[in-house]
Amino acid sequence: MEEQLNFLEEIVSNDIKSGKYKSILTRFPPEPNGYLHIGHAKSICLNFGLAKKFGGATNLRFDDTNPVKEDTEYVDSIKNDVKWLGFNWANEYYASDYFEQLYNWACDLIRNGLAYVDDQTQEQIRLNRGTVNRAGIDSPYRDRSVEENLTLFQEMRDGKYPDGSKVLRAKIDMSHPNMLMRDPILYRIIHAHHHRTGDDWCIYPMYDYAHGQSDSIEKITHSICTLEFDVHRPLYDWFIDKLQIFPSKQYEFARLNLTYTVMSKRKLLQLVNDKIVSGWDDPRMPTICGLRRRGYTPESLRYFAEKVGVAKRDNIIDLSLLEWCLREDLNKRSNRYMVVMDPIKLTISNYPEDQKEVFTPNLNPEDLDAGKRDVIFSRQLFIERADFMEEPPKKFFRLKPGGEVRLKYSYIIKCEEVIKDENGNITEIICTYDPESKPGVGEWRSVKGTIHWVSVSHAKEIDVNLYDRLFDKEDMDDLEEGKVYTDYINQNSLVRVKAYAEEALLDDRSQIAVQFERNGYFIKDIESTPEKPVYNKTVGLKSKQ
Ligand code: ATP
Ligand code: MG
Repeated sequence: MEEQLNFLEEIVSNDIKSGKYKSILTRFPPEPNGYLHIGHAKSICLNFGLAKKFGGATNLRFDDTNPVKEDTEYVDSIKNDVKWLGFNWANEYYASDYFEQLYNWACDLIRNGLAYVDDQTQEQIRLNRGTVNRAGIDSPYRDRSVEENLTLFQEMRDGKYPDGSKVLRAKIDMSHPNMLMRDPILYRIIHAHHHRTGDDWCIYPMYDYAHGQSDSIEKITHSICTLEFDVHRPLYDWFIDKLQIFPSKQYEFARLNLTYTVMSKRKLLQLVNDKIVSGWDDPRMPTICGLRRRGYTPESLRYFAEKVGVAKRDNIIDLSLLEWCLREDLNKRSNRYMVVMDPIKLTISNYPEDQKEVFTPNLNPEDLDAGKRDVIFSRQLFIERADFMEEPPKKFFRLKPGGEVRLKYSYIIKCEEVIKDENGNITEIICTYDPESKPGVGEWRSVKGTIHWVSVSHAKEIDVNLYDRLFDKEDMDDLEEGKVYTDYINQNSLVRVKAYAEEALLDDRSQIAVQFERNGYFIKDIESTPEKPVYNKTVGLKSKQ
């Protein structure tokens, strides 16, 4: 069967077949004004994946044209995240490296009568742009001579004018049906320190002017961006046409939206600044560093990007798909351990007090090469409170009075007695065990239920952060009237509990999340220490309804 190509692969494939390009070059162009999120991961997988598939390459380009919001802290985190996702860029570039070239091209536009310096205020420019139904009004400065424009533009660069007093605009058409073509601004004056160029510049190019030309300078063949930029495409092409430079082409795909998630960097920054989360890498954040700390793997994120595919229309993807991709990966690779979260004591009355036994189950039944672990069994155990019911409904196959259950990897036990305190709360369950039911000894006897457990005197206490989705609302782009996104914060998105783990967990050396059997996947937090182990819940074994 021939492989189904998505629409971008189709375009690239045709461009190669037709001989238009021998090899392709894509780019991932983040603005270093925040940390990358899962939406960026989608774009990274798309750009790098496309190039890889067709034997091309991908540049990492920092779109650092706005000095006010940008910082090297973000540059470093972005590089780290792209590498972590498993991609290598051909070149690391910065739009700010092109400032001189962009400036010279702007002078060319002026010389060709295609750009002018405008002294109108921002407000006047906005008003005179007109509306979709009404043509704009030409600026009174629109017909300045080439010489005057060149001089003024040079003086803007030289720092003669204060912020906001002048801009350079393209001279296109003030009644163009596409508002972006109504003499768009190319440069504005900002007297601010830039994280790379320092104080060399006090005029900075606008996104539309810098972005396309940067593509062109790098000879990007396919410049892929999100749908909202489709109205920018005529301007993208206009610059290339007027400057007669390398004809990069822009293509748009639908941005990734996820249920129960906000992704705009502005909102994520606010969550951090308002201390609603502990930082950019809070495990509830949709940032790549947050997902990493939560226990997501690069494999699972790449798999997710592939599953989502590329769409030409905006849509919203179910968070459960992302979680499913993660489980698929972790199930194959995670070591298993027994951990009791909400313990109740269980005593085996016919098991000798000073006796202990060691069981040696596989670390990972899906990967026998992972080896085995030692699990210690003794007379006193913790089991999960929820695994016992005094008055169970039908079909309750866990422990109940008079009932039998298998303790995972070990014996079958029978509940003989329930001990309660004066308030009627269960404090202990007394059981007997069947010595004949030891795995590997004699004939295997089946019972309906199997529960996990830890030995009280061997268990290690750990802290566990139980995370849930950060927002209660499914579609965070569709808020009720008068509400803002922070009104939908899930107040139970983090619950910290104590838990009891089998000893071997603390010796685990795997780099990925482990499975707490019958519960979910959990990863050691970066703040965990041998004295105070802390685990983060990555995802449950089953999807949340
Ligand atoms: P935000 O709107 O979250 O602030 P941005 O688009 O301003 O994001 P950039 O740093 O400019 O962030 O984005 C870098 C690249 O990532 C761009 O090519 C952009 O189209 C892409 N990108 C950003 N958000 C998403 C998303 N949700 N889905 C897919 N691609 C995205
Ligand atoms: Mg952007």
